[in-house]
Amino acid sequence: MADNKDMPMGKAQVDFICVEEGCNGQVVFKLADCAGDGEFQALCPKCHKPYVLDGALQDKLRKLNNLILALREAEPILGACNVVVATPGGETKVPYALLLTRLNTMLTLQLGDKNVDFHLWIEPASPETFR
Ligand SMILES: [Zn+2]
Repeated sequence: MADNKDMPMGKAQVDFICVEEGCNGQVVFKLADCAGDGEFQALCPKCHKPYVLDGALQDKLRKLNNLILALREAEPILGACNVVVATPGGETKVPYALLLTRLNTMLTLQLGDKNVDFHLWIEPASPETFR
């Protein structure tokens, strides 16, 4: 597995629960690791079932990775943007960048013949975004 320590990214990782009967292992990998051109394989840490991402799935994750890279790019601007959320107590301004990191996007993708919920965890590249 390639290590992308040199990439100027915060953490963006993907996890999903192993589809093997009775396993419930949590398969975790870095989004950047599976966004390359080569075949990517993730291993279940519990039952060691290998998950080879097919081309279409990898393509989706690559697009997600591109989106995150674009968000990183825009972080200095996004840090200054607010989203106004209506609450019972009135309107609350939420910094856009903060909202993104709290979204922890869930994506349901087909893995073989099963639908698997992928969780995407994003952390901002710089903690200063939230000062
Ligand atoms: Zn497993």
